[in-house]
Order: sequence, then C-alpha cells, then structure tokens
Amino acid sequence: MRLLLVEDDPSIAATLEQGLRSHGFDVVAVPTGGAALTATGYDLVLLDLGLPDLDGAEVCRRLRASGSSLPIIMLTARAEEFDRVLGLELGADDYVTKPFSLRELVARIRAVARRTGGSGAVGDPAGAERLLQVGRLVIDLRTRRVRLGEGEVTLTAKEFDLLAYLAADPGAVHTRTEILEHVWDAHWYGPTKTVDAHVASVRKKLGDPEWIQAVRGVGFRLEARP
Ligand code: CA
Repeated sequence: MRLLLVEDDPSIAATLEQGLRSHGFDVVAVPTGGAALTATGYDLVLLDLGLPDLDGAEVCRRLRASGSSLPIIMLTARAEEFDRVLGLELGADDYVTKPFSLRELVARIRAVARRTGGSGAVGDPAGAERLLQVGRLVIDLRTRRVRLGEGEVTLTAKEFDLLAYLAADPGAVHTRTEILEHVWDAHWYGPTKTVDAHVASVRKKLGDPEWIQAVRGVGFRLEARP
C-alpha cells in the first residue's frame, strides 16, 4: 500500500515515515499542499491540516473537486480547532488528532482502506499486525475471531469492530463520539447510547466487566484482565 504523507514539519514527517515503513507501508512525504495536488500513484493520503501554502482542508476540497476518490485521512492538531463536520463534508474519510500513537494511525489507515475497498492488509506481509493482543485476549483482524485464553468469544460484527478499535490502543480512553465515528460510520450522528449498549454486551461476553472500563465523563478504555 502506497501512502502519500503531506506534512510540513520535517521531524513529524520523518518520524511518521519511518514508523509507517516499519509497518510495511510504502511512504512518500511531501511538505506542501501544492505537491499533494500533483502527486499520483498513491492508495491513501495522510493530510496535515496546517500546511504552509494551501491548508489541508483546501487540498482535500480540490482533490475531491477534481474527481479523486483517493482515501484521505486528515492529521489535525487540537489547537487548530478542526471542524469535524466540515472536514468530512470536504470529503475526508477520517481524521486523527495529534498527538496520536502510531498504532492508532495504522489502525485508522487499515479501517479506511477496508471501508473504501482497498486492502488494509497489503502493507503487512508478515500478518503480525493483524493480531491484536491484550493480555489473554487475542483479536484476529483477518479472520475476525476473538480468543480469550483457551476459549473463543463470539461477537456480532459491530461488537467485534468496537473491541478491535479499543484494542488497537489499549489503555487509551476513547470518547463515545470517537467510538461512534470509527466503529459505526464517519457520518453517524445517532445516540451515543448505542456505544454503551454494545460495550455492555461485549463485557458480558468477555465475562468480566473490567475489560472495558468506563472513565466518567470521558469514555471507555480497554485494559488487560488477569
Ligand atoms: Ca503542519
């Protein structure tokens, strides 16, 4: 899978480039929006919002206006007050807010590639990244099977997606809104109760509610249990 990384901060670009390569992706980094608009031959674009020439939102809008259906993930900083709805209206497929972990970004890249019909597994020749392991819990993203110790856990499609999303970054707290956006659909604006109902069901199937901890006023996180 060939990624175009549009990022003007050389140290962030170098770190991401190296990290993504270690996950098996081909990466080319360019520092400007102008360069992004003329680049060809990529499977997915990682687009920084704050660029020196055209901002990322404008690059996104122009790419879509030119008929490109290339998957786009926006990289935004909290301080930039990214307007989520506007970003998605401009045609971005997803976004991550800095600071993010490499694992989280890789999980998003694969999720967007899956959703948009590409193969998120191409950049993963060894297949190792398709297994998420949190303590005794092993989630196989390829076969969509979940094992807990010796036993198998049977989940619905959404329950699986929810668990895989939380397991991509164990210990990290995800808000209900983030979970809705990434597990359901970027354009889902339904009730956040949906998340709670699925969390309750996954907890029950894992046999220990503490696997998915509620962080009051924030959201949920997955923690390994003995
Ligand atoms: Ca920037």
